Amino acid sequence: MAQLSERMRALVQPHLADIEPYDPAFSPCKINLSANENTYPLPAGVREAIDAALAATPLNRYPDPMANELRDELASRHGLARENVCVGNGGDELLFNFLLAFGGPGRTLVTCPPDFSEYGFFASLVQTECVRVFRDAETFALDEQALLAAARDAAMVILTSPNNPTGDLVPLELIERVCAACPGIVMVDEAYGEFAPAGSSAEVLLARCSNLVVLHTLSKAFGEAGIRLGYVLAAPDIIDVFAAVRQIYSVNVLTQAAALAAVRTRDAYRPCVATICAERERLARALGALDGVRVWPSAANFLLVRVAHAAEVRRRLRDDYSILVRDFSSAPGLAECLRLTVGTPEENDALVCALSELTGKEGR
Ligand SMILES: *Cc1c(COP(=O)(O)O)cnc(C)c1O
Repeated sequence: MAQLSERMRALVQPHLADIEPYDPAFSPCKINLSANENTYPLPAGVREAIDAALAATPLNRYPDPMANELRDELASRHGLARENVCVGNGGDELLFNFLLAFGGPGRTLVTCPPDFSEYGFFASLVQTECVRVFRDAETFALDEQALLAAARDAAMVILTSPNNPTGDLVPLELIERVCAACPGIVMVDEAYGEFAPAGSSAEVLLARCSNLVVLHTLSKAFGEAGIRLGYVLAAPDIIDVFAAVRQIYSVNVLTQAAALAAVRTRDAYRPCVATICAERERLARALGALDGVRVWPSAANFLLVRVAHAAEVRRRLRDDYSILVRDFSSAPGLAECLRLTVGTPEENDALVCALSELTGKEGR
């Protein structure tokens, strides 16, 4: 992987010397099931509403820094007030700002890998120690006792529900106990929350856990990863912190207009999300029936699978079938694992067909 030049290693802040430029390992493929995007067309009328909103947006004026119109719409969708919402340039910006505000030298962030690699990366950027409470190697179940013990000394905890890439949910009762144990702030990353069964969201705990932050994004269920809009829900004094550290114009006028139009049509996404969930179960059954493929249950729009020679299988999917999936086989705890985004029925059929050829006897 790429590294900084010798000259730059000497010039950047010392803790950044070993940083590696991000490589999403993207190659153009006919079928891209690598980034957990929604691969379905937008619901009828949504694209038209977005286009009309964009066309009506003046470009010569600076954006409203806090995007209050969008904030109000998001707040009302979640039964909260404007003061409980802060938007960001994708969930990623909010994750970084979370670490920026509450982390720093001498502070710790607790994470539960295998999880989203950005957590550890952002922590390292702001010199925050990451305490990793590893999941069970076979089931990926959380180690509840170790998590609670670590939370007691932490400035921050991030729980991911459903978790990327393992697909499982964090029980609300555990989230509540972590919030009670942690003297700092607990973020529950619900980037995939819309794919989970009703009643899974930690939002209901906001009323009684004053140190809880819930993260959402338009990138996954809502099919707008390109728009770059994420948001957090939390107590007003926590939102004030997010508002204070953010780049004031990070959410531009086009993003605000597009996101507002999209959020207003949110109910139109329900059938698509239901279809993706049904396809997830169909795909899991089909993959589980293949020889030598292990599939973990998932509450998100992707499946984690284990297959012998995973890196080679990924390469052949890409080169022989033009299907791109995500290889996790060199990540700690994810030996021989691939993450497959649930696509359209046609995309899923193509994936199953290719994998059955690659894992079947004639495949190697
Ligand atoms: C995709 C994702 C996000 C945020 O994505 P954005 O596109 O930056 O909004 C956050 N957390 C997890 C676990 C994700 O997979």
